[in-house]
Amino acid sequence: MIELARDTELEDGPAIRNQQVRSRIADWYVQQQGLKLTRYRTLTALSKGQTPGPESSIIKIVAAPKMQDMGAFAMELMGPAGIMKEEVPHAAGFQAQWIGGAGFRIAGGTDEILRNIVAERVLGLPADVRVDKDVPFNKLGKN
Ligand SMILES: Cc1cc2nc3c(=O)[nH]c(=O)nc-3n(C[C@H](O)[C@H](O)[C@H](O)COP(=O)(O)OP(=O)(O)OC[C@H]3O[C@@H](n4cnc5c(N)ncnc54)[C@H](O)[C@@H]3O)c2cc1C
Repeated sequence: MIELARDTELEDGPAIRNQQVRSRIADWYVQQQGLKLTRYRTLTALSKGQTPGPESSIIKIVAAPKMQDMGAFAMELMGPAGIMKEEVPHAAGFQAQWIGGAGFRIAGGTDEILRNIVAERVLGLPADVRVDKDVPFNKLGKN
């Protein structure tokens, strides 16, 4: 993203000098540092023979929207060339990130389910109402 911002000329100069662009890049950098430290926490737990806990759900809650967000922003920064996947420099997977990001927010647990996990098991907030919690799948009513 930094490379793309350096090489992109906006009306008021290089994108890397634009405050909005810099602010977005800084946000992603901070998120990335948080993800890195969360992964270290998981690795530390594993190295001590412990099972990593539900706090690992935070990784996908942050990483998947970030992936989608960065892809969309980069494509916008590229202007009309952003819709082309292969022909432009810095294709760097931004288009694939944007397209794949939506699926990544569903696969392996949707954003909503992961937020429930963090709310209930990490923060200890009251659980959602689940009227079918103790009902076997084959006994659930069909709509
Ligand atoms: C790219 C991709 C790859 C995948 N790969 C695999 C794979 O390799 N193996 C595999 O087995 N599956 C795979 N899946 C399936 C994936 O695991 C499921 O799509 C996912 O778990 C969501 O389940 P669902 O589709 O049944 O949605 P549902 O559970 O029906 O959810 C539908 C919507 O309701 C919301 N929702 C559901 N329950 C709650 C709740 N209690 N509280 C709040 N919101 C709720 C969800 O967030 C979602 O928005 C993949 C999916 C995608 C998109």
